[in-house]
Amino acid sequence: MKTIFCEIHLPHIRHNFRLLQQRAGHTRIVGVVKADAYGHGDVPVALCLQSEGCTHFAVARVHEGIKLRKAGIHGDILIMSGSFPNEFAALREFNLTTVVYCEENIEEMVREGISVPVHIKINTGMNRLGFRPDRLPWVYRTLTEAGFAVRGIMTHMACADEPGSPTIGAQENLFYRSLEPYFQEGMLGHLSNSAGIFTLDNLGSLARPGIMLYGGNPFADKTVDLRPAMTFKTKILQVKRVFPGEGISYGHSFVADREMLVATVAAGYADGYSRLLSNKARVLVNGQYAPQVGRVCMDMSMVDVTHIQPARGDEVVLFGEQRGQCIYASELAELMGTIDYEVFCGISPRVKRIYT
Ligand code: PLP
Repeated sequence: MKTIFCEIHLPHIRHNFRLLQQRAGHTRIVGVVKADAYGHGDVPVALCLQSEGCTHFAVARVHEGIKLRKAGIHGDILIMSGSFPNEFAALREFNLTTVVYCEENIEEMVREGISVPVHIKINTGMNRLGFRPDRLPWVYRTLTEAGFAVRGIMTHMACADEPGSPTIGAQENLFYRSLEPYFQEGMLGHLSNSAGIFTLDNLGSLARPGIMLYGGNPFADKTVDLRPAMTFKTKILQVKRVFPGEGISYGHSFVADREMLVATVAAGYADGYSRLLSNKARVLVNGQYAPQVGRVCMDMSMVDVTHIQPARGDEVVLFGEQRGQCIYASELAELMGTIDYEVFCGISPRVKRIYT
């Protein structure tokens, strides 16, 4: 039995997938499972989605795509950050679809003479990856003349999680104007992340949700019935008394002003429980909230359990649900000045993922 682990509840991922597919209507959902499915485990999550009927998957890197293919994913696997020449042979061997987003990338592909299916990425306002839309005719012609099967044209939204942002309509209009001449039978057009499924007028052929599959909600308003899939759990190593005037942990950033019962729990920044949470976060112990006190260490942190009186070995929930109470990953993210995406991705490989 592990001391610290993440429970991943796959039925919640199934529920979130169905909800998104229902909302997207005829637009097919691409399961975005890059970065180890946002820390949830790419192979178990992709297999779960595949069994729900998901036929398209997206990752960032070629090695992530190879891992999925070897694990039995049959559908289309899109490499969203594209590929370099030393990866082209693997694209062909594992039947992966690469995104092409710059002219040097086209030159490399034509020079190496690989013929793999591609999606063209255009930059409609995110200014991260992609051709300027007015280059699309040249890009399309060059690729098709060189024998590439152009299967899709895509872009990425900058502010899809800000309903009412004028950039949403502007990016959407530019995308569909650019796509129009190529919109022949079978050409896939896609632009939406999770948030876009709720804020875009026209989703196109595919939508690429990531965070919502895992139950994270990028909107301030939490009305969508998403179910968090991950619970981050650990155990109490020691329970001890601390007396008034005594400091706790490195630097004594917390000093007791009364007699306290303090539990040392097995969760530290090496597990992905950030040091930025020091003296800020709360955890759940026996169904009750307990404040974290003192600096978070590499493998341990301390919590005030005076009102709970737990024992060594009792379970502690760092985020997720316990006996009807809940701490969302987004609560920790806010305390850290980040987003729940980074909280999920930051949970280290030494924390075992257990599937329920
Ligand atoms: N599409 C692209 C190109 C992405 O980079 C990402 C994630 O960063 C997604 C889709 C999924 O976004 P989200 O997790 O917000 O749904």
